[in-house]
Amino acid sequence: MPIEISDKSIKREFIERVMQLSGQDIYQCFQCGTCGGACPMSGQMDTVPRRIMRMAQLGLEEMVKDCKTFWTCASCHSCTVSCPRGIDVARVMEAIRLLTLRKNVNMVEPSKLPAETVKELPQIALVSCFRKLTS
Ligand code: SF4
Ligand code: SF4
Repeated sequence: MPIEISDKSIKREFIERVMQLSGQDIYQCFQCGTCGGACPMSGQMDTVPRRIMRMAQLGLEEMVKDCKTFWTCASCHSCTVSCPRGIDVARVMEAIRLLTLRKNVNMVEPSKLPAETVKELPQIALVSCFRKLTS
């Protein structure tokens, strides 16, 4: 599906923040799709990492934040070691997560987790989840 763009949807500040926080030049991405092929979570993602990179290059902040891909990302770095342009894609995903979390938006609300789930999950999984998905 083509990405629809209007002048209003382009957020230059978003592009700058993503590059600043990730330390990556997202314009190096030439859309080869290797990152998605290497990603063990791509089957669970609503949009492949390549497409997130394209939306980020275009400054389509709202479109990026409507996706779940950067929350689904397991920070495994497979994409990073596979990218032929040397882009640390995992850091780009992290930067996009941070931009949401810094607005005090939680992806997971700890107080709303069912007691049964909390009891059954390994503590390390919970700690890791809270570190990554809460502000
Ligand atoms: S592997 Fe690198 S260059 Fe290829 S689409 Fe992913 S980020 Fe872009
Ligand atoms: S770091 Fe995230 S996007 Fe990259 S391969 Fe791992 S799960 Fe996929």
